[in-house]
Amino acid sequence: MGIISENARKILSEIPGHVRVVAAAKARTAGEIREVIEAGVTLIGENYVQEARAVIPEIRERVGWHFIGHIQTNKVKYIVPLFDMIETVDSVPLAQTIDRLAGRHGKIMPVLVEVNSAQEPQKAGLLPEDVLPFIRQIHTLEHIRVQGLMTMGPFLDDPEHLRPYFRATRELFVEVAGATVPRVEMKHLSMGMSDSYRIAIEEGASLVRIGTRIFGTRNQA
Ligand SMILES: *Cc1c(COP(=O)(O)O)cnc(C)c1O
Repeated sequence: MGIISENARKILSEIPGHVRVVAAAKARTAGEIREVIEAGVTLIGENYVQEARAVIPEIRERVGWHFIGHIQTNKVKYIVPLFDMIETVDSVPLAQTIDRLAGRHGKIMPVLVEVNSAQEPQKAGLLPEDVLPFIRQIHTLEHIRVQGLMTMGPFLDDPEHLRPYFRATRELFVEVAGATVPRVEMKHLSMGMSDSYRIAIEEGASLVRIGTRIFGTRNQA
């Protein structure tokens, strides 16, 4: 058994049953991705359209593909046919573009709304107070379904310091669920990465996006 599948199996055995791992596969080969799938990981996250277009058709195994990177509107046409969920929706024009292209593909695209939970300038995602108004604005789009929230949180040395941002995002998730916006089904809360997934799970994450701890340090042969 290779180190990648060993890492993946270890994480899968440690996390609670209701949490799913999204293997963050940026800069990884199809062979490396196959190893995590063999270990039992069922969701793969990709950040880059060009990479995804090369690697996804190579993978025959049945898994769910999540787009987790920053989206340029002109790339949505490639993302929609390839992916099963888009985790990084943070503007009305982007939501409208996804809706239009999903309609063209006869598809309904599950999406998560990205939250800038630490309210950092220049960071992707909506400010927490804008999330519910945003969802009320886009819920009528017929070919997307809002299914939850995603957050990165700030880059901090001590992952324990991310806890308040994860907690606040969970509270926002509950608030949105309580607002019962038609067609919005709050099922997924995506937060936590290699250094912080344990804390994110304690704070209510249902999806954790893990790269380095599964695949090893990037650009290593
Ligand atoms: C790379 C990446 C991750 C995983 O990061 P690691 O620290 O390698 O686990 C999670 N989410 C997003 C959006 C990423 O780009």
